[in-house]
Amino acid sequence: MTMDPARPSASAVAVGAGRILAVGDEHDVSRLAGSRTRRVELRGRTLLPGFIDAHCHPVMAGVDLLRCPLHDLTPTPEVYIDAIRSYADAHPDLEWILGSGWYMAAFPGGTPSRLDLDAAVSGRPALFINRDGHGAWVNTRALELAGVTAETPDPPDGRIERDPDGSPNGTLHEGAVELVHRFVPEPTIDEIADGLDLAQAYMHRLGITAWQDAWVTPPWLAGYRRFAESGRLTARVVACQWWERNQGEEQIEGFVEGRASSRVGRLEAGTIKIMTDGVAENYTASMLEPYLDGEGHSTGGRGIDFVDPERLRGFVTKLDALGFQVHFHTLGDRAVRQALDAVESARRANGMTDMRPHLAHLQVVDPADWPRFRELGAAANIQPYWACNDDQMTDLTLPFLAPERAALQYPIASMHRAGARLVGGSDWTVSTPNVMAEVEVAVTRISPEERGRPPFLPDEAIDLETALRAFTMGSAWANHRDDSTGSIEVGKLADLVVLDRDVAREPTNRLGDARVLLTLVEGEPVHEDPALEAG
Ligand SMILES: [Zn+2]
Repeated sequence: MTMDPARPSASAVAVGAGRILAVGDEHDVSRLAGSRTRRVELRGRTLLPGFIDAHCHPVMAGVDLLRCPLHDLTPTPEVYIDAIRSYADAHPDLEWILGSGWYMAAFPGGTPSRLDLDAAVSGRPALFINRDGHGAWVNTRALELAGVTAETPDPPDGRIERDPDGSPNGTLHEGAVELVHRFVPEPTIDEIADGLDLAQAYMHRLGITAWQDAWVTPPWLAGYRRFAESGRLTARVVACQWWERNQGEEQIEGFVEGRASSRVGRLEAGTIKIMTDGVAENYTASMLEPYLDGEGHSTGGRGIDFVDPERLRGFVTKLDALGFQVHFHTLGDRAVRQALDAVESARRANGMTDMRPHLAHLQVVDPADWPRFRELGAAANIQPYWACNDDQMTDLTLPFLAPERAALQYPIASMHRAGARLVGGSDWTVSTPNVMAEVEVAVTRISPEERGRPPFLPDEAIDLETALRAFTMGSAWANHRDDSTGSIEVGKLADLVVLDRDVAREPTNRLGDARVLLTLVEGEPVHEDPALEAG
């Protein structure tokens, strides 16, 4: 599948000097083959343009991977403790044992004990952030070092989980994490660069050849530059410079410098990320209608505008005039409207520039705003993996939204029909960057982790071609690289992926099982599975 409307499918592709030389059938390409040409027989498998993730956090994920990652392990205390012990033993020089990715449900009450962690590492402080990033598991040594005792009061924005005698048990919630975390040394630029190496390998294994990193502060950007300067950056990356919401226009000068100094190899940093609201699960997503209290009564609360909407108009207009792209975090329908209003102001002031603004997350979108994406030349940056009946939805979201608003969640098909350009992103490590798993949910509205559950608002499902297009051409557009990537067309860069099956014939509720056998960047393998030649 080529994602080229002029030739949607082909059976053979020729690649040379990093580019696509021919697209057609066996006859069209074999005349270009030389004696040293490598042939890869597809045998019923699928060749696609390399996947592009338009919203993810690899620079943060990389540092997590460098430490002791628990994300992909079987979620039991025994497995975690074994993994942590081996990691600690293998790294005798580390001052701190750090990691992340444990699952609350693996422990009774969601609160692991410091004694469990002491069993893995006791002589050095240890701190492990949980999978959703809102809590930490620490050992006794870490609590001692930070001076957290039975007498330590809970901070205003967090809670210390305690034993019956009041002493800290080892789980810290929200702001209480900082009581210990502030003693953890910051990662160095070399560590950030080394972490990127791991994150990039992880992404390449999933067929991802390019991405937009949605949260990059100046030290993280320095890590990206170091990585690119060392010649190791094989992915095409747009790093979003992070808008500090407690600051104003004075930070823009730094963005201009960051953009100029970060054109290194495949790296660019011409995008600004503005987080305009929070998340629905803790009522900080900015909504047009009030949240409910869980029993059907209005709380009167409509969430939080992280950036004043009037100032937002000014900031976006200024950034657009300076040639920056703006990538918004917008969860709630009021945040979406305010971001579109800001884009409208910029368009009025600056005309239809090539800003290519995009709005990520889009959990609740008012129907009046669906057509505005097309009118304003803004894209819908979708995270389809979330559009399902998981516990997060049934327990933490639906009881707190009025039913008519809850019915407007992740309106992907509606926005698409209204002409919105769809751009695909994972939000890794919040959820998996496995594109075919994301595509499965986009097509079925059912999680691959719980295929027995009913679909979530199934009218908002999109077809396979539309979903794949979001994660290829759509995201290539968001990265200003649709002229050279995103589809299989003669002259484009040979960023390609081979999947282990014919996804067009696969039952839709099995799409997420597809595995990546080969990932090419400019014709060079950056991931290859032995099954490619064996199968
Ligand atoms: Zn994100």
